[in-house]
Amino acid sequence: MSSAACIFCKIIKGDIPSFKLFESDKVFAFLDIQPLSRGHALVIPKFHGAKLTDIPDEDLLEILPVAKKIAQASGATDFNILQNNGRIAHQVVDHVHFHMIPKPNEKEGMS
Ligand code: 5GP
Ligand code: ZN
Repeated sequence: MSSAACIFCKIIKGDIPSFKLFESDKVFAFLDIQPLSRGHALVIPKFHGAKLTDIPDEDLLEILPVAKKIAQASGATDFNILQNNGRIAHQVVDHVHFHMIPKPNEKEGMS
C-alpha cells in the first residue's frame, strides 16, 4: 500500500532520489536530507501509514532490528531513536519513520 502524494512513498519507489542504506520487502532506510548529526537516518515501513497506529504489527516488527544495524554501522556509541506521531508531536512527513540520530561527542561535532 502506498500513497501517490507521499514523499516517502516516492523515495521508496525511486521517484525521489535518496541515499539508501537498507531495503527489504517491508523496510526501507535512507539518510535524512537535513541531518541533525552525521549519519542521521530514517527507517520506514514500505506500508504507507501516517502514524504508528496505522501500521500492521508484522511490518513494525521488522523496523527496530534495521534501526539497530544502522546504529551499529554508524559507529556511534550514543544515539537517539525517535518517532513522532501528529503535528503536536512535531511530525512533518505523514509516513511513519523512525529517526536514528547518532550523538557524537563534543570533540567530533559534525565531521
Ligand atoms: P518528522 O519531523 O516528520 O519526524 O521528520 C521528517 C524528516 O524527514 C525530517 O528530518 C526531514 O529532514 C526529513 N525529510 C523530509 N523530506 C525529505 C526528503 O525528501 N528526503 C530525505 N532524505 N529526508 C527528508
Ligand atoms: Zn507514504
